Parts: sequence; structure tokens; C-alpha cells
Amino acid sequence: MQGKLELMLGPMRSNKTAELLRRAEMRRQYAKQHVMVLKPSDDTKGEPGVVESRNPNGHAKMRAHEFNSANPWEVLDVLAEEEQRIGKRVECIAIDEGQFVNELFLFVKHLLDAGHDVLVAGLDLDFRAMPFGEMLNLTWLVNAYGGSITECMAYCSCGARALYSQRLIEGKPAPYDSPIKVPGDAYEPRCTEHFVLPGRPH
Ligand SMILES: [Zn+2]
Repeated sequence: MQGKLELMLGPMRSNKTAELLRRAEMRRQYAKQHVMVLKPSDDTKGEPGVVESRNPNGHAKMRAHEFNSANPWEVLDVLAEEEQRIGKRVECIAIDEGQFVNELFLFVKHLLDAGHDVLVAGLDLDFRAMPFGEMLNLTWLVNAYGGSITECMAYCSCGARALYSQRLIEGKPAPYDSPIKVPGDAYEPRCTEHFVLPGRPH
């Protein structure tokens, strides 16, 4: 039987990770499922081997298997070992920061075909307001395999719904062509009116 996909999308500070961990914990506690939490190695939140929500009031934290985001396929060996060790199937696989995972669409499809339920949380858009990685492509899999799409809500400091992740470098809006990695960059959720992207071509 094929698995189902629960997708959690949204900008920075929309509590995506907390929601992912809440669902993983419920499956463990009430459905008695074995849930494997995966953390791509690009994810810099929290200590190694732990998925942690940025929300300081959430206390959400869970042990996770860290993997190389450039090659998610190596997780399949770890998964097989885990099933060997526990003597049963891993019913659910939870992936945080899905936007960083290379070949995410094919990897998740493979897991669903193998009968695992999959939970994926991640950013829908990058700081340029462009689709981030393959997160938005996963909506097709929800349509085809069943499951749900949750748009996690974030709020701009003006109180309106924030759709964008505003990147700030030393407190100023990052230009469109700013480098991928800059020391001292930060992000905050912004609404359409307050999202600023200097030098955007369109
Ligand atoms: Zn605003």
C-alpha cells in the first residue's frame, strides 16, 4: 500500500518545525508508530542530531537522523538498518527543512511508493520570493497519493499575514543579487506591503 504525504509550507517563523514535531509525536504516542525524523545537513538550527523549532516557547525538540542534503538516497540504507533493528516497518518518515534536499520530489515519491507515510516541512519561497528547492512540487504528490497541505501562518510586525521571508544583512533588506551565504544575515516574516527586495528585475 502507498503512503500519504502531509506537507507543511510557509515562510520563516510560521512554526513549521513545531507542527512537524507535534504530528510526529502524536503518531508515536497515540498511533504507536515508529517515526524516523530526518534533518538535512544544511539545517543549522539546533545541535547536531536534533531537530528543533526556532520558537523559544515551543520546547519542540526531537532526536533526528542527520543526512547529506545533496544525497538523500543514502538514507535508504539507514532506514533498512532501523527496520532490521526494531523488527518492524518504519511507518512514518518526517523531513524538516525540505527545501534543502536535493531530488526531494523523487525521494519522497520513492518513500510513498514503499508504503511509508511522509511528513515534510519547509519554506515555500526563498528570500527572492522564488520557489525554494522542490517544496512546491510536492503538492502534486499530495494530489496523487492523498494527504494534506498545511499553509503555516506567519505574521508581519504590522499584524498582517506574512507570505514572505525578508532577508536582512546587518539590519538592511538584502539585495536580490546578494550572496547565498553572508555572515550576520537574518530573516523575518513580512507581508506583501512590507517585503522589500532591492534590485529585483521584475
Ligand atoms: Zn506588514
